[in-house]
Amino acid sequence: MTAPEKQNPSQPREFASAQAVDLDCAAFQQGMAARMAAGDDFDQDPHLRQCPRCQALLAELETIAQAARMLLPTEEEPDDMLWQKIEKAIASDRT
Ligand SMILES: [Zn+2]
Repeated sequence: MTAPEKQNPSQPREFASAQAVDLDCAAFQQGMAARMAAGDDFDQDPHLRQCPRCQALLAELETIAQAARMLLPTEEEPDDMLWQKIEKAIASDRT
């Protein structure tokens, strides 16, 4: 009569989920700009709701996009200078 040993493998849960989140983040961020341009509603995104990192990133991008829209003359494509400014803004924000 041998009771099956109740093995309780203590898996590194936090580590595993952190990895999954990383993959989710990569996938999310990959499509983020396109979805933003398409006017997608990010409030419904299940990943965004649980990921403060992507929330912060999205907020940052939205702020920049908003500023860019205000700077831009209507119906004109952003010129290179503007995108350089945006890139600088992102870079300085991350330091
Ligand atoms: Zn994320």
